[in-house]
Amino acid sequence: MQFDTLKFADEEVAALIKENRLLRPRVLRSAQEPVADIDGKRVVNLTSNNYLALANHPEVKKAAVAAIEKYGTGSAAVRTIIGTMSIHEELEEKFAAFKRADAAILFQSGFTSNVAVCQSLISAPEDLLISDELNHASIIDGARLAKGPRKIYRHKDMKHLEEILGSPEARKARRKMVVTDGVFSMDGDIAPLDEIVALAGRYGAFVMVDDAHASGVIGEQGRGTVNHFGLDGKVEIQIGTLSKAFAAVGGYAATTRSLRDYLGSVARPFLFSSSQPPSVAATCLAVLDILLKEPARLKSLWDNTALFKEELKKAGFDTGSSVTPITPVMVGDTEKALKFSRRLFEEGVFALAIGFPTVPKGKERLRTIVTAGHTVKDIEFAAEKFKKAGKELGII
Ligand SMILES: *Cc1c(COP(=O)(O)O)cnc(C)c1O
Repeated sequence: MQFDTLKFADEEVAALIKENRLLRPRVLRSAQEPVADIDGKRVVNLTSNNYLALANHPEVKKAAVAAIEKYGTGSAAVRTIIGTMSIHEELEEKFAAFKRADAAILFQSGFTSNVAVCQSLISAPEDLLISDELNHASIIDGARLAKGPRKIYRHKDMKHLEEILGSPEARKARRKMVVTDGVFSMDGDIAPLDEIVALAGRYGAFVMVDDAHASGVIGEQGRGTVNHFGLDGKVEIQIGTLSKAFAAVGGYAATTRSLRDYLGSVARPFLFSSSQPPSVAATCLAVLDILLKEPARLKSLWDNTALFKEELKKAGFDTGSSVTPITPVMVGDTEKALKFSRRLFEEGVFALAIGFPTVPKGKERLRTIVTAGHTVKDIEFAAEKFKKAGKELGII
């Protein structure tokens, strides 16, 4: 097809190519496994968010199939029409208990969960949304759709957060919400949630934490950042995704009963986009079950994380400020990061290069995540290849 009216797309693509920003994702030809077939090559896969290695687990798959047999493939409706199935309610109840909250509401993704909450709660010009500068894109977009202004504080800078909370604009705001990622998705560092909650409390603000990379990963039994800091029951809103450790797709907000009911009546993604397929809800229930009954899985994730970080550090790589399974390997140049990723792939390891604008200029990197399913051999193999390619390219 050719349209004169779409010529601009050719120019846009040419510009992206010039800036190394045209994305051509590699293709997975097998299930999302720790060692997977990517573009026809078997490689150690350090790129997925499959933290607990449950994306291809027999018990989980069985639960998904059983849900298809019982409920069919799709709900064919939004939640508020006739898309609420008993399995959605079961998942909401079990997730609320997992998060030690009174209630939970499901959304179609982590992205729409953030949009739903930011847009619904910061709903007038008198409200204020206060956000960490490194929060996820879906929080940024949620803030853009909100009706109130937003203020951005420097990454984890509590002095700056307090300055904003104490400003005249914040003092006269009708509602103020402080929003932070629990675990930051590009750097793998953890928000100082204890300090954020204390500050918010002092200034009459409430807190929303996005636990996309923390649920199923940190805290007792993977309960997330709130539990990690011993703050069960003390954080107003816990958001998260069901597409990472939970190996399906979807998102949730765990909160009070009345806020849940409010979101269920006004949040636009809830009202105007259809509910999760029942097999997806069943997948999440099965993952939650395994997470609670198999603590060894979480331990493997952390053992593997410690081993890989140690190997990389010993080799002289800069792994930034990460304290979680997300381990960035700093390169500092987009072209070099891309070359590094390609060399590793030839050697049998897949680690994704992340460049500007996803991360700031000078902070270009490979982003790695080991899972509970990698073996010690996989990790040692990957670390060897990192050393080899890193030396070749002058990164170490
Ligand atoms: C991945 C991610 C999301 C989006 O979740 P999806 O379910 O993939 O839409 C939101 N917030 C953070 C911090 C994330 O890392």
